[in-house]
Amino acid sequence: MKTNKACDVVVIGGGHAGTEAAAASARMGAETILLTHRFETIGAMSCNPAIGGLGKGHLVREIDAMDGLMGRVIDRAGIQFRMLNRRKGPAVRGPRAQADRALYKAAMQDEISAIANLTVIEGEAADLTMSENRITGVRLADGEEISCRAVVLTTGTFLRGLIHIGEKRIPAGRVGEKPSEGLAETLLSAGFSLGRLKTGTPARLNGKTIAWDKLESQPADADPVPFSFMTDTIKVPQIACHITHTNTETHRIIEDNLKRSAMYAGYIEGTGPRYCPSIEDKVVRFADRSRHQIFLEPEGLDDDTVYPNGISTSLPEDIQDAFIRTISGLENVEILQPGYAIEYDYVDPRELKSSLETKRIGGLFLAGQINGTTGYEEAGAQGLMAGLNAAQAVAGKEALRLSRSEAYIGVLIDDLVTKGVSEPYRMFTSRAEYRLSLRSDNADQRLTPIGIRFGCVSSERQALFERKLSELNEAISKAKDIQFTPNEAVRRGFQLNQDGVRRSVFDLLSYPDVTMEEICREWPDFGSCSKETQEQLEIEAKYAVYLERQRRDASSLQSDENVRLATDLDYRKIDGLSNELKEKLMRVRPENVGQASRIEGMTPAALTLLIARCKKQDAA
Ligand code: FAD
Repeated sequence: MKTNKACDVVVIGGGHAGTEAAAASARMGAETILLTHRFETIGAMSCNPAIGGLGKGHLVREIDAMDGLMGRVIDRAGIQFRMLNRRKGPAVRGPRAQADRALYKAAMQDEISAIANLTVIEGEAADLTMSENRITGVRLADGEEISCRAVVLTTGTFLRGLIHIGEKRIPAGRVGEKPSEGLAETLLSAGFSLGRLKTGTPARLNGKTIAWDKLESQPADADPVPFSFMTDTIKVPQIACHITHTNTETHRIIEDNLKRSAMYAGYIEGTGPRYCPSIEDKVVRFADRSRHQIFLEPEGLDDDTVYPNGISTSLPEDIQDAFIRTISGLENVEILQPGYAIEYDYVDPRELKSSLETKRIGGLFLAGQINGTTGYEEAGAQGLMAGLNAAQAVAGKEALRLSRSEAYIGVLIDDLVTKGVSEPYRMFTSRAEYRLSLRSDNADQRLTPIGIRFGCVSSERQALFERKLSELNEAISKAKDIQFTPNEAVRRGFQLNQDGVRRSVFDLLSYPDVTMEEICREWPDFGSCSKETQEQLEIEAKYAVYLERQRRDASSLQSDENVRLATDLDYRKIDGLSNELKEKLMRVRPENVGQASRIEGMTPAALTLLIARCKKQDAA
């Protein structure tokens, strides 16, 4: 054994989950080591060089609200910002930005290097050391040991990773990086239930060989909206993407060669993401479609590499070359790196408590793709929570659990730990029941106060947030205080029922056709509020009725979440539960009645039995 190091928390893996976990743990004051293969790959984007989108953008705003890194980093690296669903309601608007890969990596590495209490060590974790089902340390491949009281494991697609390109199979965690075999063995021998998933990536193209002038262009937003509540303006130059399509000839080549695709030849056992299918899946599943859209996204300002979004594949290189060259604008394209599929082990997330600590091993937390999710944002969100809770555990303090009504992060973790996954899990706005309250624009109002309470938010962010909140509260009370009769409203140009009822500016703003601009015209005081406050005031007024209803629903959900169930409860001994439910409850081991209610197949009668059981347990 070599020299021993010691710290409070070791985070294994410097990907999207690991960086947030290490940063959160260190922000909470825990002495933290980030152990990763190479410093140089910290912040690497394995697939699509983009952050955010529908549901995912909400997660980034929430990470940022708790002072996480991802929002600030993409604001320094985004080369095409777009607010998706801009014309739809604020609840489903999703910020997205395409990144310059090199700028993203550099900004993430800068952030990580600047954090106090955080040391980065380059190396490979080969094993975990434990005593009586508690973590005691990490053993590296070179024999060195780091002793610690908590570990956050964030190894992404590296656990027994296997790349497929047609008939070729290469053991790897990502292209050019070796897989992690030792840790998979450690988890298996500790009794964890592991499964196999797959994901894929398209070929990378040389932009100099694309006929851009043949293609439709898609510009960035004229007024890029930053991700971070701390960023004033986006300073990175903005670029356009281009759009092209597959065609019947592309589909013919793919169909003719399906048996050479790793997926269709049966080399891959893992399940892939249904909503992010490979091009061969699209051709088979949507056989009636004569074309599929492809976004050609430059990977950087000084980089000619282009990411063709929409054609991930596990076909052999010669077939990739042939089908890509049938696409308009790509007739003479040079492929810089072939597309590939990757299969990897994941841990059944029902092995986790909602703090992301495993139920089996005390002090072991898991976050990111290892829990069956896909995407940088899902990984970052879990990393933040796992890092924060690892630090809380080391300090002997209560874990932070966000509920489904507080955050998309709460929805994500609750879905994982209660339902498990049967395919790579990604976030959608439709997964959240409280969409009107969980908007990307109010993530700071929902979560920064929690972050302040737990001690993971900088004083600078706290001061900025408190200033903003007091301006908003002042604007809301002013809007409620200014009252007028219907006659007066008509004189000011607003058409209202002549019912004699006095209304406030806040009531007026709740009408769908009344805009903030009109309010500012009539009551210029509101015009001196920041643009952000004006926007928030308008949303609060427009959605007041629905938001109130959601607040009531959320508080009834909260009361179910507060009824705790012992994690060692033997459900097999509860008479009246079906065998199927007994088995599911034994597997999931819900922490409270709310979680139990979301287990597939749960009935009101079974819930009543569980509640009665809790009462008996409390009375005993
Ligand atoms: P990663 O970002 O993969 O980071 C893992 C880190 O752990 C790496 O830094 C690695 O060096 C380190 N590590 C691993 N094992 C060890 C060890 N034993 N010791 C020390 N360090 C270790 N997401 C989408 O949303 N859409 C897609 O289409 C998509 N396609 C993908 C295609 C491919 C080929 C790949 C590889 C990923 C794809 N993803 C996609 C997923 C996305 O890249 C991941 O969800 C995200 O990066 C997961 O973050 P993570 O932190 O869990 O893991």
